[in-house]
Amino acid sequence: MAQPKKKTTHSRSRMRKIKEHLENVNLVECPHCHNLIQPHKVCPYCGYYDGKQVLEVEKASK
Ligand SMILES: [Zn+2]
Repeated sequence: MAQPKKKTTHSRSRMRKIKEHLENVNLVECPHCHNLIQPHKVCPYCGYYDGKQVLEVEKASK
């Protein structure tokens, strides 16, 4: 049976998993401000979650 030539170290497999995760981050539209955000997280742009404001967001200077 074919065998891997070198042991895959813990560090190397973790680095690969991090890269895979960064390429597969799921995004949904915020129902309040319509920016793309991660699901099941407080919106970092408007501070809303589940229709309620749960965080005070500082307005970014333009
Ligand atoms: Zn939002």
